Amino acid sequence: MLQVKDLSVTYRARRGPGVAAVRGVDFEIPDSTFVGLVGESGCGKSTLGFAIAALLDERRNTVRGHVLLDGVDLYQLSPDQLRALRWSKLSVVLQGGMNAFNPVLRLKHQFMDVMKAHAKLSKAEMTKRIAQLLAAVELDPAVMESYPHELSGGMKQRAAIALALVLEPRLVILDEPTTALDVVVQRSIVTMLSQLQHRLRFSVLFVSHDLGLVLEVAQRVMVMYAGQIVEDKPADLIIDEAHHPYTKALLGCYANPRATRVSLTGIPGTPPDLREHLHGCPFAPRCTQRMDICETEAPRLLPLKDGSVACHLYTHKEVPAR
Ligand code: SF4
Ligand code: MG
Repeated sequence: MLQVKDLSVTYRARRGPGVAAVRGVDFEIPDSTFVGLVGESGCGKSTLGFAIAALLDERRNTVRGHVLLDGVDLYQLSPDQLRALRWSKLSVVLQGGMNAFNPVLRLKHQFMDVMKAHAKLSKAEMTKRIAQLLAAVELDPAVMESYPHELSGGMKQRAAIALALVLEPRLVILDEPTTALDVVVQRSIVTMLSQLQHRLRFSVLFVSHDLGLVLEVAQRVMVMYAGQIVEDKPADLIIDEAHHPYTKALLGCYANPRATRVSLTGIPGTPPDLREHLHGCPFAPRCTQRMDICETEAPRLLPLKDGSVACHLYTHKEVPAR
């Protein structure tokens, strides 16, 4: 359903080469699949989400590569064609999405604006649909008469998810949708989202720095580091069968609630500066298993049993240096 091919995004800088935030990313998301995209802040995961939704400002970024939704390349469409596709095929919920509502309009009217622009429905039909959607995100349908400030943060984020679903899109991209909320509200929203996804069978790209949260809801997890996908695996296998040293390090920072004992370890060092040209594996300076080849040759994402991984450990027979 979604195919991302060799996608790169560079934020242009006044001086110098710019920031290569996404660097040659390839992946696919089939129909009705819940995919999590995780990584440390600054790894390019939000930029990747924005690039897939074709939401980046072309005056400030250079986007290369292809994003195909049902075979249609979003980067070949005119602004009008793209607008027609937004909401109806692909919609986005942002971290600040709860603040994306117009403060002076009742929720009902904001839903209707989106519906009117894309579908010919009577007022009664629209009202019925809004009530159904609000109920689906576990809100009282009466909140459609409210102004955004009358809702709590969690309620607004539920309403933002309902709005994203108003035209039954095939793909919903959520960028840290619950980060600003407390943990209990976070959990209830992602659980609700996962149930909705099962029922309505849309696909989800859930962007988050919180591996624990992603593991609770995603069917598949993609791990991003320095602008690239370094591992892609079914979520139920990643805890026990992670391959990439970075994925293993991320798991070391995650307290598995089902484990009897957990010892947490951080990841020493910092991610590389994406303004610089990167040689070899970008994780090499922080990797405890690096080999000589890691310093010079960039590993490519290659299929492995149950997923794919970009690491020389699985393509070269060299013994780790230490
Ligand atoms: Fe570590 Fe080398 Fe694998 Fe990179 S390619 S993660 S440096 S072992
Ligand atoms: Mg982000």
